[in-house]
Amino acid sequence: MPSPKNPYGIETLAVHAGASPDPTTGARTTPIYQTTSYVFEDADQASSLFNLQSYGYVYTRIGNPTVSVLEERIAALEGGRGAIATASGHAAQMLAMFTLLSPGDEFVAARRLYGGSITQFTRTFRKFGWNCVLVDPDDLEALRAAVGPKCKAIFVESPANPGGAIVDLEPVADIAHDAGVPLIVDSTMATPCLCRPLEWGADLVVHSTTKFLSGHGNALGGILVDSGRFDWSATDRFPSLSQPEAAYHGLRFHETFGDLALTVHGHAVGLRDLGAAMAPMNAFLTITGCETLPLRMERHVQNAQAVAEFLERHSSVSRVSYAGLPSSPYYERARKYMPKGAGAVFTFGVRGGYEAGLKVVEACEILSHLANIGDTRSLILHPASTTHRQLTEEQQIAAGAGPDVIRLSVGIESVDDIIRDLDQALAAAAS
Ligand SMILES: *Cc1c(COP(=O)(O)O)cnc(C)c1O
Repeated sequence: MPSPKNPYGIETLAVHAGASPDPTTGARTTPIYQTTSYVFEDADQASSLFNLQSYGYVYTRIGNPTVSVLEERIAALEGGRGAIATASGHAAQMLAMFTLLSPGDEFVAARRLYGGSITQFTRTFRKFGWNCVLVDPDDLEALRAAVGPKCKAIFVESPANPGGAIVDLEPVADIAHDAGVPLIVDSTMATPCLCRPLEWGADLVVHSTTKFLSGHGNALGGILVDSGRFDWSATDRFPSLSQPEAAYHGLRFHETFGDLALTVHGHAVGLRDLGAAMAPMNAFLTITGCETLPLRMERHVQNAQAVAEFLERHSSVSRVSYAGLPSSPYYERARKYMPKGAGAVFTFGVRGGYEAGLKVVEACEILSHLANIGDTRSLILHPASTTHRQLTEEQQIAAGAGPDVIRLSVGIESVDDIIRDLDQALAAAAS
């Protein structure tokens, strides 16, 4: 399906967007520009680059040709105007908030988020004077009430890791826009193949490219994609983009760069000063991953659906939390926002509690017991003994990570082998 901004289908964009044969060698694959810096043509060009009066490369912390190809590719896949690639998903979230917030400001975030994001938002960001207010994104009245005068953004994750809850993006975007703030969506679990939040009203999208976009469990990375639609100058709430920047002789990013303001600021100020740039090698691996993304996602969701249906019928399984099953409270929302499939990460409950959960993950042979998602390989995790072990049992249950809960990231192996492995592991845990 072509995106509104691009006449090409997503499979074509996944292979081609942002890349062209290397102008000097003809290399068809994007080369890894493994260089820190770039020779200036002359002193005039050097000063115009430093003044942001012309576009070019200076130093890889701010921009690199391999990384630029990835940025253009993912911007095209999301239907966005521009993007900033970062060293990790967490760095992309950091960059987004750095651009929008000043000390003393706040943002409203959905309560159901990747655990690492909750920690980043509620502990580390507080040290910068950025306050995070957590709310249930299904309670639209509470969400609306939480957006106060100091609020600079609403942040949601859909589907949410690990439980797979899907956010009703359209009304949440309306609430953000009524309040004059952008909606940011962490779309790591969906990828642009399954959901494009910008088409549902979101203004910014963040990804941990570490997961499905790179897709092979071999390259950490993140990206912040901008729709280019938000009017940063409508109020004085976003001074980084609307007010004069002293480090660039009083330049105003929104006035000067229009719909590319946030993208240019993210490189020229964000990456320059926070330093969380993506390495060229990781950009290369992620570009390669993007090329097969549509094919992989098709198999990931097909396998996930079959595994979820198998588990729902299994006598050792108490419940399966997957929005692709009619039993899920998010089933209808998944059909609206993710008609091609509800992703490949979900949780289930095993009868026998904590001990049984541990036994299942230990008895698996094909599924790897580790803390990642979005790999070609099927992955399994027992959150209560690993990622969520610092929490009390009550907090674990509230986070969808109770003692009996197991998280799966279903890979692209033969689905019969994944099911057989889970079946023998459940039998081993029951005996
Ligand atoms: C992994 C993950 C992150 C953090 O990304 P890193 O690349 O590990 O920094 C953020 N959000 C979601 C949904 C994730 O799964």
